Amino acid sequence: MKFIGTRGEQAVSAAEAVVRGIAEQGGLYVPESFPAVSAEELSALCGMDYPERAAFLLGKYFGEYDGEEMLAALREAYAQFEGDDPAPLVRMDNGMYLLELFHGPTCAFKDMALTVLPYLLRKGCDLLGIREELLVLAATSGDTGKAALEGFKDREGVKVMVFYPEEGVSKMQKLQMGTTEGSNVNVVAVRGNFDDCQTGVKKIFASAEARDKLLERGVRLTSANSINIGRLIPQIAYYFSAYCDLLTSDQIHAGELVDFAVPTGNFGNILAAYYAKRMGLPVGRLLCASNRNNVLTDFFGSGSYDGKRPLFRTMSPSMDILVSSNLERLLFEISGRNAALTAERMRSLSASGRYSVTSEELNALRGLFYADFASEDDTVECIYEFFEEYGYPMDTHTGVAMCVAERFEEKLSKDPKAEKHPMVVVSTASPYKFPQDVLYALTGNDVKDSFKGVKRIHLLTAMKVPESLKAIRYKPILFKTTVPPDKMFAEVMKFVGQGN
Ligand SMILES: *Cc1c(COP(=O)(O)O)cnc(C)c1O
Repeated sequence: MKFIGTRGEQAVSAAEAVVRGIAEQGGLYVPESFPAVSAEELSALCGMDYPERAAFLLGKYFGEYDGEEMLAALREAYAQFEGDDPAPLVRMDNGMYLLELFHGPTCAFKDMALTVLPYLLRKGCDLLGIREELLVLAATSGDTGKAALEGFKDREGVKVMVFYPEEGVSKMQKLQMGTTEGSNVNVVAVRGNFDDCQTGVKKIFASAEARDKLLERGVRLTSANSINIGRLIPQIAYYFSAYCDLLTSDQIHAGELVDFAVPTGNFGNILAAYYAKRMGLPVGRLLCASNRNNVLTDFFGSGSYDGKRPLFRTMSPSMDILVSSNLERLLFEISGRNAALTAERMRSLSASGRYSVTSEELNALRGLFYADFASEDDTVECIYEFFEEYGYPMDTHTGVAMCVAERFEEKLSKDPKAEKHPMVVVSTASPYKFPQDVLYALTGNDVKDSFKGVKRIHLLTAMKVPESLKAIRYKPILFKTTVPPDKMFAEVMKFVGQGN
């Protein structure tokens, strides 16, 4: 499969798209076409385990990668997850299903792709004959950072550097990142919010001068953010896998439409669901669930994207984002793959924080997506009631999606003509990753210490505490640097200069 850029950049191979991360003019790589999965193939997938399902689907995009080797890499990636199934689907007593994507090394769904990306990148470099050292840069709202650090630490020929907003991540996320060991990792706090971090990293990528300075030192930049197609494609697999699990447990019949509710920030996770639909998975509605930073809810409501507004800190920090990067890929599709128009809209976004789609485009978007948001109070109430009723503790991000899904179903139930589908709510993090806020939602109690929160949630819910979170408790914090956004590149150069 070849990949083209959303702003008109030329087609490149899958390996090139992964290694470059972002296209030359700032566009994002998208597949030249969506490979189809036939009904027979879908039924064959159902007989496979998760790594096999993923290998089959990734094979459709990464044709130049060796299939056997890919399967081995996927087995290795998902062997790091706790339990037998990296993406179990759990039926809830409210009739919905939770797709638990948090059993990986860092307890959030980012692990689903970031345990695989190192292989895709390393192999991509081999295929392209690239010999320079790679520098993986990531901006993080908390979860990508740790997942990238874990994925790349101590890998040969790679350095990984993560920027996070000083005040924009949870204590546990900060601890997770700050305690990462490994000779090739660096973690830097940025004075600003996530959008400042993301803009800073994008600027480094867009700067020819920065790229040249790094190349002089034998270092090639690449991205671990969800702008990298190597993040997006592995995420398609769990939508197919969930569908298979519904089929094999006789919850649905072949061809039946299934809705997915996705807690959304950078629009990567939900975009993978849209890609799955384009590949032929019987997907009904995609529920785009936002927190109080509801720029996407407004966009799907009005057709105008307006990122010029204050960014609130919420208890679902991984969704505290005003510029959802991956929306560019959807805009490209919805405009009939009009690269000039997409480029124009993105120019307008960076100049004025705004752009609009046409009313035809908006109608098409509304046929695919349903968008809503949950306030902080709504989320707390939803987590509390869900636990009271069904005994299941959700994390704060999943709580946002569940709140939106429940409201959606309630609305449908009032409409006799409405067609109702089984609902899968995508659960993106372990409740233990946000222990203070989850404990507050469950009991109304505040605790200062994250691990006290973990202990109390455990006593209350009896849910198993992930080993990886237990392990960081007594580890030293190794990274303490904080910089303003305009000093990010200087930090990169410092890091690259080390040891040379
Ligand atoms: C990253 C993240 C999200 C948002 O996912 P996007 O792909 O950025 O939309 C939601 N929940 C958690 C726990 C996350 O880490």
